[in-house]
Amino acid sequence: MKETFSQLLQLDRDFVLPTYGRELMLVRGEGAWVWDYYGNKYLDFGMGISVCNLGHCHPGVVQAITEQAGRLMHCSNLYHNEHQARLAATIAGLSFGGKVFFCNSGAEANEGMIKFARRWGSRNGERSEIICASNCFHGRTLATLAATANTKYREGFAPDMGGFVFAEYNNLDAVRNAITANTVAVMVEPVQGEGGVHMASKEFMQGLRQLCDEKNLLLLLDEVQSGMGRCGHYFAYQEFDIVPDAMSMAKALGNGFPMGAFTIRSEYGSLFAPGVHGSTFGGTPLACAASLAVFRAMEEEKVIDNVRQMSQCLLTKLNELKQEFPLIKEVRGMGLLIGVQIGDKVKELQAACQKQHLLVLTAGGGVLRLLPPLKVSKDEIDLACQRLREALSSLV
Ligand SMILES: *Cc1c(COP(=O)(O)O)cnc(C)c1O
Repeated sequence: MKETFSQLLQLDRDFVLPTYGRELMLVRGEGAWVWDYYGNKYLDFGMGISVCNLGHCHPGVVQAITEQAGRLMHCSNLYHNEHQARLAATIAGLSFGGKVFFCNSGAEANEGMIKFARRWGSRNGERSEIICASNCFHGRTLATLAATANTKYREGFAPDMGGFVFAEYNNLDAVRNAITANTVAVMVEPVQGEGGVHMASKEFMQGLRQLCDEKNLLLLLDEVQSGMGRCGHYFAYQEFDIVPDAMSMAKALGNGFPMGAFTIRSEYGSLFAPGVHGSTFGGTPLACAASLAVFRAMEEEKVIDNVRQMSQCLLTKLNELKQEFPLIKEVRGMGLLIGVQIGDKVKELQAACQKQHLLVLTAGGGVLRLLPPLKVSKDEIDLACQRLREALSSLV
């Protein structure tokens, strides 16, 4: 027997931990579109928080998952699986030729990257402290919470894990002043997502690279949100002509199949040996088949070219709206990771967008965050901006 909508909500209230504020129930997706329980259709400019970057239920990914599910889903990392090796080589080829560790989420990828930095530090002057940036977000596990700037996420979960300090984002002097004899690494997002859509400047990123070289520190990049084509490159750091020592990724890596990874420069590979780090579910045949299909589609469908074109188009349209609505203070972003600075009314605006059947996100500091599918069309951008305009009008 099928429950009614309100019966399902009651089950949710009774049995699901109330860690999310939500009302919509989505049942189906295709490309840039999702449908709710009642069959209402929404244009999705959030894409499950930049996870379904190629669109909901991308046929190539669906096919890869379906085929692999019937062949071998999981075999544990006690055994090789062909897709994992292929996928690692693909990631290495599209980034900096390093070695990859597979896991299941962004936080877990960052945890692994932090463990890498500490292990390297243990053999290079007994150093362990990592400098993170203001407004950064690295995840919800205890280590990544301690590495996250906003203390509201940590409330009630004391004691904080030690070993992290913070310096102002895009301020090289602040980072330099935070370095002590115990510093081992600097960890940043090339473009901050959750923290409010802030882009690193080229001077900052190149300065960080130089500073880390000078002081013998590791440069760790969290590309969980900014990577996988979102910012108009496979990975956002590629905009800055630098190479990090390590990089984490997740979110869109499986286009909806849970998947995370971190990669380190190959010269550090010998820090790891059997037993040093691990994950039961990391890099299953199923997850890796999904991710290989993602990379295949990104190339075949020239996804990154589309991101660059549509980025211009969306930014232009949003700046037109800014002329019309003083509520919009600023429009900024890189590729299709776009922030519209609103202020206090941002939650209200997000709700108004949903009334217009447009799904959008918010970010720290009163920002409306737009994460359209990377294959978004001009027509879909026009429609989204039309709906955003209606939403803005309804607030005025
Ligand atoms: C989403 C996000 C994370 C956390 O990823 P989870 O998969 O939720 O653990 C970490 N870093 C950044 C930059 C993110 O956007």
